[in-house]
Amino acid sequence: MTAKKCIFCGAKADLLCDHHLGWERMRGQMAKEAPNLVLLGSSHVPLRYRKVHTCDAPLCRACAVRDGCMNFRLRYLGSFSDTIDYCPGHDNFGTIAKEITGLEAEAFRSAWRKAANAARGIEVSTQVDLFGRVPI
Ligand SMILES: [Zn+2]
Ligand SMILES: [Zn+2]
Repeated sequence: MTAKKCIFCGAKADLLCDHHLGWERMRGQMAKEAPNLVLLGSSHVPLRYRKVHTCDAPLCRACAVRDGCMNFRLRYLGSFSDTIDYCPGHDNFGTIAKEITGLEAEAFRSAWRKAANAARGIEVSTQVDLFGRVPI
C-alpha cells in the first residue's frame, strides 16, 4: 500500500481532517441494547448511540489548518495528545446536529476529495458519488 497523500498538494499526509459532517445512529447496538429507542426522532437519540462522521481527508502539515490540541488523560494508561486539524475551507468544527447516513458521509468525502483534486488540475475517478452533490 502506498502512503496516504494530502488531497490538496499531494505531499505525504499524516493528519486527517476533523471537520464534523454529522452523526449516525448506531442501529445495531441500539437494537440490541435499547430496541425501544431505535425509531426515536433525531433529536431524542442519546449521545452514546451517536457515531460521529468526520471529513477524514488526508492532509499534510503544511496544508492543514490547526485548531489546537486535545489532551487525553487516562487513569491507568498515562496521557497523550492529538491535534485538531481541518482542511483549508473546512476550518471550523462543522456540525454534529445533523443526522446523516454512512453513505451520505462517504458521498460527501468523495465529492470533497474530487473538488480538491480538481483544484489541483487532477482528474480522479471516484467510486462513490451517489448523489452528485457539490461539496459545501
Ligand atoms: Zn498538503
Ligand atoms: Zn475536511
